[in-house]
Amino acid sequence: MGRVIAIDGPSGAGKSTLAKMLADRLGFSYLDTGALYRAVALLFLSKGVRPEDDDEGLEEILRRSEVRMDNGRLMLNNKDVSTDIRTPEVGHYSSVFSARKVVRDFLLDVQRQTASVSDIVVEGRDTTTVIFPDAWKKFYMDAPVSGRARRRYLQLRQMGMDVTEEDAEKDVIERDNRDSKRDIAPLMKAGDAVIIDTTDKSIDEVLNCLLGACR
Ligand code: C5P
Repeated sequence: MGRVIAIDGPSGAGKSTLAKMLADRLGFSYLDTGALYRAVALLFLSKGVRPEDDDEGLEEILRRSEVRMDNGRLMLNNKDVSTDIRTPEVGHYSSVFSARKVVRDFLLDVQRQTASVSDIVVEGRDTTTVIFPDAWKKFYMDAPVSGRARRRYLQLRQMGMDVTEEDAEKDVIERDNRDSKRDIAPLMKAGDAVIIDTTDKSIDEVLNCLLGACR
């Protein structure tokens, strides 16, 4: 396995932007694990799966499916779904279905396999605690709800989505609750993670902080 830099934190803390920049600067590859959960949610939505459906049904669909990263594109059963997974609906259901053990087990191998081929920056909710507990470097990026909701709102508007700032804030609060209160692999700070509060910090300041800790 290559070197792993793992970054966890709640929705909208700026993990994706910074993880991508860090990977570029260090020449590591980059894995957005949230995108994998979003792909599974998209898959389930396309098959009419409901949150109350039992494990067998979900497992059967997952057994016949493949989710992988290919050159920075997210492939679901060989179709590029990198854009389709970014809707608020898929975001909502990714958080709902990510609480299911069958889903987490299915994606565990995908994540570890990606790290087996190169040095990698990986970001998500449980990458520092469950997926890569022995990661070379660990970070937890955080910011207050208001700042994260604003960032999420601006991202969605930029993608042409019709959302209000209130929608974005409601979504961030709901996802915080669901992601940190679930029984399996909840979002939490690893004891050995460097904690970075991104409030009032520019992207360059956060990047320098990450680079400093990696040198
Ligand atoms: O990071 P992003 O917002 O795209 O993640 C979508 C959802 O996937 C999160 O709200 C969370 O429920 C789930 N997720 C997870 N574990 C990860 C990454 C994401 O449960 N490592």
